[in-house]
Amino acid sequence: KLSKRLQMIADRVPAGTRLADIGSDHALLPTYLAQQGVITFGVAGEVNPGPFDAATRQVMECGLQAAINVRLGDGLAVIQPGEVDVITIAGMGGSLIASILDAGKSKLQGVAKLILQPNVGEDQVRRWLDEQGWLLESETILEEDGKIYEILTASPNGAPVTLEALYQDRELIGGKVVNKARLLQMGPYLITQAPEVWFRKWESELVKLAMIEGQLALSTAEASKAKSEQIGQEIQEIKEVLACLQ
Ligand code: SAM
Repeated sequence: KLSKRLQMIADRVPAGTRLADIGSDHALLPTYLAQQGVITFGVAGEVNPGPFDAATRQVMECGLQAAINVRLGDGLAVIQPGEVDVITIAGMGGSLIASILDAGKSKLQGVAKLILQPNVGEDQVRRWLDEQGWLLESETILEEDGKIYEILTASPNGAPVTLEALYQDRELIGGKVVNKARLLQMGPYLITQAPEVWFRKWESELVKLAMIEGQLALSTAEASKAKSEQIGQEIQEIKEVLACLQ
């Protein structure tokens, strides 16, 4: 049985897909999807030998060697262009996910869907998608074992207008305008849906940001003071968004 987080990722993989799961660790996601008959072919990519061995064992134990290739390599280097329809990258930081996608741009041609689950730094994933012309299609937030996760899906963007509309300054209740930086940070769909878990996430993010702001404010360096002021502004904007939606 998959964890709630992996199950929600699995639920977003369309039937009949050829999948690459990058940073697959024990290959739990592709083996589950192959067993369920959702994927017709899978690549479990791993850069580290330990998880690579674990993935190889898991695929063997499930008797899925014909359906799933376990490959050792960095990010998208393990796949050929046109080999898969969907790529999942889950359980790592947003900056690492963005850098894996960026380094593997040439492998993304023909890919119909990205399913990304950053543990932190979701804004960096949204920014990369936006800059590279991928349309963010859905955002989901969930809590499991006291941790909060976001799952983002994206498809190649056929209509630039839609992409622009996604991050257009948004007016909330009371005429409050949310700018692009906050939409990238807090999620354009999540802001609209404002689920309870998302409020809790941002309440705790505000506590962390206030601590960083306070520490930077103590420094005598001009750059730190400027950064502190910038974070203060960010805190203000986040609070205003939450206040409008509560
Ligand atoms: N995707 C699984 C999940 O969500 O449960 C496993 C997440 S695990 C915390 C992150 C995995 O990513 C590790 O096994 C690590 O070795 C792998 N990894 C980190 N950087 C990678 C890279 N550049 N290319 C491929 N795998 C990577």
